[in-house]
Amino acid sequence: MAFSIRFDNSYAQELTGLYVPWQGQEWPDPQLLVLNEPLAQSLGLDTAALRGAEGVGMLSGHALPDTARPIAQAYAGHQFGGFSAQLGDGRAILLGEVIDPKGARWDIQLKGSGRTPFARGGDGRAVLGPVLREYLVSEAMAALGVPTTRALAACTTGDRVLRQFGLEPGAVLARVASSHLRVGTFQFFAARGESEKLKLLLEYAIARHDPDLTGAEDAALRFLERVGQRQAKLVAQWMGLGFIHGVMNTDNSTISGETIDYGPCAFMDSYDPASVFSSIDQMGRYAYSNQPAIMAWNLARLAEALLPLIDTQEDRAIARASKVIEATEAAYRQDWLNVFAHKLGLDTADAALIDDMHALWQGQEVDFTLFFRALPEALRGDPAPVAALFKSASGLESWLARYRAAFSDPQGAARMLEARNPLYIPRNHLVEAALQAASDHGDMDPFHALLERVQNPYHPVAGMEAFAQPAPQDAPSIVTYC
Ligand code: AMP
Ligand code: MG
Ligand code: MG
Repeated sequence: MAFSIRFDNSYAQELTGLYVPWQGQEWPDPQLLVLNEPLAQSLGLDTAALRGAEGVGMLSGHALPDTARPIAQAYAGHQFGGFSAQLGDGRAILLGEVIDPKGARWDIQLKGSGRTPFARGGDGRAVLGPVLREYLVSEAMAALGVPTTRALAACTTGDRVLRQFGLEPGAVLARVASSHLRVGTFQFFAARGESEKLKLLLEYAIARHDPDLTGAEDAALRFLERVGQRQAKLVAQWMGLGFIHGVMNTDNSTISGETIDYGPCAFMDSYDPASVFSSIDQMGRYAYSNQPAIMAWNLARLAEALLPLIDTQEDRAIARASKVIEATEAAYRQDWLNVFAHKLGLDTADAALIDDMHALWQGQEVDFTLFFRALPEALRGDPAPVAALFKSASGLESWLARYRAAFSDPQGAARMLEARNPLYIPRNHLVEAALQAASDHGDMDPFHALLERVQNPYHPVAGMEAFAQPAPQDAPSIVTYC
């Protein structure tokens, strides 16, 4: 059967000025390394065709089908607080959109497809380690119910690329997103004072993500509100998993509320609000506990960009937008409480109990993930496993007594906790080991073993205990790179 994939290209058609047409690079030896078959099927794509020469050509960017209208997207953004009026896809191209069998529209983007006019000093390349990290972590997030871009495929290029620690295999990630619209996309037109184009962008974004707001009164303000609601829920979910994004720049902050751009991200093992893993975050701007404040800060940057569409009178626009930001911060607090109430199996979010739990963890080096997997034992009557996670368990006993008192059926609650709290997450040392085996020896077995665990995060599997354990005490601390 001939390879055919029908791309739609609404972004390219409707958003002139927000991209440049651009082709992927040709590679010496493009090879498909991993294909996400269930995802491909859910998109209505033919997996056999994707594995064939034309499919691999497309997934690696080496040779694209006729219906693709590849572009590099332009955007602006605040990076670590400093504004750049022009960023854009330096090493990525959007092939177009596919409409799945249910009628939903999905972007297909390649990352690592070669230099674009937005590459600045960059080489336009991606290397295998970070591509596989994004694959693993985004698939874990999807399995954990967190809104996220998805990994469709990873290809190697046959080239080697110079990075910090030497030559590494070049790779391309094909990813799927409900869109790649970012806060920075709005900042791009706003920075140029192009209000008419900004309006078109807003209409496009509303059609894609909030179609019920089409033609609504106060559409810009209500759109801001929606983005805030999605971002607040998203970051609350990250917090509930100990996830640290690492680069919450406004160009990595989506309108859809999906997690995007898994660069130097990580899950913390032991609880520490100041946790940072990224090699490029020297100041800890994007530390675990700063994420909610950064989320609100990024939303304020979106608000700024939207001001001329919110109200013709600037001071009135500012006042109205400020209210939305404040409401988002309040909504975040409630979302965060709801996330932890859900993890604890509580019907109502008991703020004191949840805040006190966080206070209990302070300075204790408690493994964040295992804490919630030890609580069921405590509900069944054995507090020893949870106590063993603490350096000194003073205060734990009285907290557990309050917690247990919330349940009339502790056995049922224990089972609920096991269904809601992951046992297997992409722990840093496991991710690093899988990436290293792939990059250094072409050994994909550790990657596939870890992928299978994190895609089924809740159910213990005999013989897989090592996947649930924190890094050994003497393991070197992990620093992540993009
Ligand atoms: P990120 O922090 O990964 O979202 O990247 C920030 C910006 O740098 C984006 O515009 C990327 O496209 C660009 N970029 C990152 N790495 C490279 C690279 N190796 N070559 C060209 N552009 C890059
Ligand atoms: Mg980015
Ligand atoms: Mg990156």
